[in-house]
Amino acid sequence: MTPPANPAVRDRLRIAIQKNGRLSDPARALLSACGLSWRESRDRLFCYGESAPIDLLLVRDDDIPGLIAGGLCDLGIVGRNVLLEQAGEREQAGEPAAFRELRPLGFGGCKLMLAVPDEWDWQAPEELAGKRIATSYPALLRSWLKASAIDADVVTLSGSVEIAPRLGQADAVCDLVSSGATLAANHLKAVHTILETEAVLAAPALPFGDTRADLADMLLRRLDGVLRIRDSKLLLFQASRDCLAEVISLLPDAEAPTMMQVDGSDSIALQALCHGVVTWQRLEDLKRAGARGLMVLPVERMLA
Ligand code: ATP
Ligand code: ZN
Repeated sequence: MTPPANPAVRDRLRIAIQKNGRLSDPARALLSACGLSWRESRDRLFCYGESAPIDLLLVRDDDIPGLIAGGLCDLGIVGRNVLLEQAGEREQAGEPAAFRELRPLGFGGCKLMLAVPDEWDWQAPEELAGKRIATSYPALLRSWLKASAIDADVVTLSGSVEIAPRLGQADAVCDLVSSGATLAANHLKAVHTILETEAVLAAPALPFGDTRADLADMLLRRLDGVLRIRDSKLLLFQASRDCLAEVISLLPDAEAPTMMQVDGSDSIALQALCHGVVTWQRLEDLKRAGARGLMVLPVERMLA
């Protein structure tokens, strides 16, 4: 079967994000940080892009992969768990891959984990053989079971997976876990990670054949700039030549510093982009190693 060509030539890019939920605010904040802004429509399902021809569609997260596959949306911000689950469903149904992950976005992090009742003296995943496992991620669970050569029953539930063992519907669960508090409240303990997930930028498997390709490239360049400097600081200081090596060894998270000779002295002025947190403790350590006139500056934008 030949994959469908990317339908409908368009000169605006349409990005689907979650309407209400954990990913909504951070997704919007990230796109705003890329310089995008929108005219809000009254029903708030479609937001017309003002600063660039990039519109937003606000939907349920589970609809995002399908909208991309159908060509109704060009990009989406969705959990890797949702994207891979739907990719797995398509694969298990013999359909071609329709979308791919373009970038991890650094928020919405959690794990898809197997959890069992507290009293289960868990040793190894093989103990799941012949058991029933409740999940909202049947494709991901099935492919993990297959790869682990474990024969277990998958009980698909659309929500409230954690109460399935207490209701006698299942022996174990496979669900998203961040703090583990929901599991603990249901007398379950997480025992094995199936997938590490976070929000990702999803795109169709096929490249765009029109202006949307340039718009997507522009967005990616800006996104990379924003993601690269998230939590980053520019550190300015001077140091004499003989203590440079020791000072620089205290900046393992910095990009190669820019150095300039200070006229009429053996001092060097340095500027270093640090990706880790620059605490007072770090500044004091740098000063002890010979750095002077330390200054920490926020970084607003970066275009590599
Ligand atoms: P929708 O109404 O859009 O279908 P939802 O209830 O499916 O919403 P949320 O609970 O908002 O979705 O979760 C969206 C995504 O957030 C998940 O798919 C996952 O990638 C991520 N996430 C991060 N932490 C957690 C968590 N502790 N539990 C569930 N999802 C989490
Ligand atoms: Zn959902």
